[in-house]
Amino acid sequence: MSDLRELYQTVILDHKKQPRNFGRLESANREADGNNPLCGDVIHVDLEIEADEVRDVRFEGSGCAISTASASLMTQAVKGKTVAEALRLFESFQRLATSDPSQEQDTDGLGKLAVFSGVREFPMRVKCATLPWHTLRNAIEGSGNVAKTE
Ligand code: ZN
Repeated sequence: MSDLRELYQTVILDHKKQPRNFGRLESANREADGNNPLCGDVIHVDLEIEADEVRDVRFEGSGCAISTASASLMTQAVKGKTVAEALRLFESFQRLATSDPSQEQDTDGLGKLAVFSGVREFPMRVKCATLPWHTLRNAIEGSGNVAKTE
């Protein structure tokens, strides 16, 4: 288990240092903002959705290692997926991050996103990890609301 934790740590730090798909997206046709005042994380997500598929996605913002790495891994996870698949991933990730720490975790289909399996033990960090996903969902649904994980 400690080896796994170390691996997770390494992945998170790598994505914090070199966030993937960072910046604004010229071709975006959906967007949303999110913030987590408890930690000070702010994020903007740009999406290009065409024929029900997430053609491209980028994010911008500033925040802690967890929120930045989560946003970075999220963009990799949903790029090329259908909107329905992206929303399913949102739900799986939400379950992973918020499930009862005494329950067994289901990381099936989550791939690299499983690196956040430890956050459920830290309620403050849960909000950091799920912020990008709430923002993504708002962008997809086009609600225009600012996602807040307070
Ligand atoms: Zn944070």
